[in-house]
Amino acid sequence: MPQYDYDLITIGGGSGGVRASRFAAAQYGAKTAVVENLRIGGTCVMRGCVPKKLLVYGAHFAEDFEDARGYGWEPGEPAFDWQRLIANKNRELDRLEGVYHRLLRDAGVDELTGTGRVVDAHTVEVAGPDGVKTRTAKYILIATGGWPSLPDIPGIEHAITSNEALDLDRLPNSIAIVGGGYIAVEFAGIFNAFGAETHVVIRAENILRGFDQAVRDTLHEEMVKKGVVIHQETRVQSIEKTAAGYSLRLDDDEILEVETVMYATGRAPNSRGIGLEEAGVRLAANGAVVVDDYFRTSVDSIYALGDVIDRVQLTPVALAEGMAVAHTLFGGRPTKVDYAGIPTAVFSTPPVGTVGLTEEAARRDYDIDVYQSHFRPMKYTLSGRDEHTVMKMIVDRKTGRVLGCHMVGLDAAEMTQALGIAMKAGATKAHFDATIGIHPTAAEEWVTMRTPVRPKAEAAE
Ligand code: NDP
Repeated sequence: MPQYDYDLITIGGGSGGVRASRFAAAQYGAKTAVVENLRIGGTCVMRGCVPKKLLVYGAHFAEDFEDARGYGWEPGEPAFDWQRLIANKNRELDRLEGVYHRLLRDAGVDELTGTGRVVDAHTVEVAGPDGVKTRTAKYILIATGGWPSLPDIPGIEHAITSNEALDLDRLPNSIAIVGGGYIAVEFAGIFNAFGAETHVVIRAENILRGFDQAVRDTLHEEMVKKGVVIHQETRVQSIEKTAAGYSLRLDDDEILEVETVMYATGRAPNSRGIGLEEAGVRLAANGAVVVDDYFRTSVDSIYALGDVIDRVQLTPVALAEGMAVAHTLFGGRPTKVDYAGIPTAVFSTPPVGTVGLTEEAARRDYDIDVYQSHFRPMKYTLSGRDEHTVMKMIVDRKTGRVLGCHMVGLDAAEMTQALGIAMKAGATKAHFDATIGIHPTAAEEWVTMRTPVRPKAEAAE
């Protein structure tokens, strides 16, 4: 008789949890189960990256129809049907959920439907549709992700989050989005393109804190040009229901009236109320599960990964952590995750791609050259669209190594993935210079930036 029901029980069927359980089972023959109380696939697949990107694609057609005129097309007055888009998006999510169920089944992973709670170092209780079950495991993995976190102001119960924004039964005429991070700027681009009067309310002076200044300034400018109203250094004091929607009281008693209010003010780890503290698992002040380099918590048999450990809230990072946990626990290969040089994209309009150090961060530790290119993409020459691309490369003057690449503009996400590989391989500016460009593309700019914009004087010598 085995000592436990499973080798591994994972609480949370999102990207990281599914990957760890599936890989442990398929690759190493471990007996594993995943506990999930919502839909398998988690935030990214069901309430985040995937449905969001489908809406971003949908939104971009608004500009594509306009741009088509410059290329000789007469597309007429395109009509847009929000309900059809949402229904099609939901059908795709159903398909993906089916794929996830099949992948788990094929790998021999058991799905335990319900809410998981840690009872002790080796026991999980699952409260599901057919009652409460108790299961034991040699290891427990906490992969419960995160949930939107909203400030406690009067009327906050009227605000929706990205969870609901992806499923509104109709497109609002106007929306206020509070926050200036990834989610806020992405949804501002979506709603604005579909024709909603879009306000972004930020407490800071600019959007996308932590990103390179050129990215922040360029995206801000482009969003404003497209019609998004950005209320800088503004806080929402309260939200009141009105006949037509909601009234937001801003600083200085200014009132903003909109049909829908959305908050995108960060996400908090989903770690409370699932027995962790009672079982002796240490949590940080913000609720993040504290883990070592190998994702082990303060209880030897309990591991955690993904958004609930609040290191880097990105799906591909959770996937890498999932693989690392499987190798460590069942492959006899203790594995860490290398968090350096993670490429990331913001699917704003226009999009952002970034990898490596910002100019501000690089300047603190290195003597740097900064190369920058600013141009109107070829696609917009005939259409006359006033949208610009900015690319910035930061180079260590001593070694020539490329320390950071930042971009706002068409195809930024696609390019940044490839830039990330070059940087992982330790590429220098000389490698970029020696690479033949592909003409005509915007990407060729990365290999044709010859003169640094900073420092200027030395460059001219
Ligand atoms: P972010 O942490 O990116 O941004 C939070 C924003 O909310 C900041 O602008 C912050 O302002 C603001 N904020 C925080 N608290 C308050 C408050 N009390 N009042 C007003 N404003 C406030 O969080 P998001 O919710 O946008 O996204 C969560 C995470 O999900 C991201 O960090 C990212 O890792 C991930 N994600 C990744 C995506 C991608 O890869 N494309 C897409 C979507 C999400 P300030 O700058 O002043 O602190």
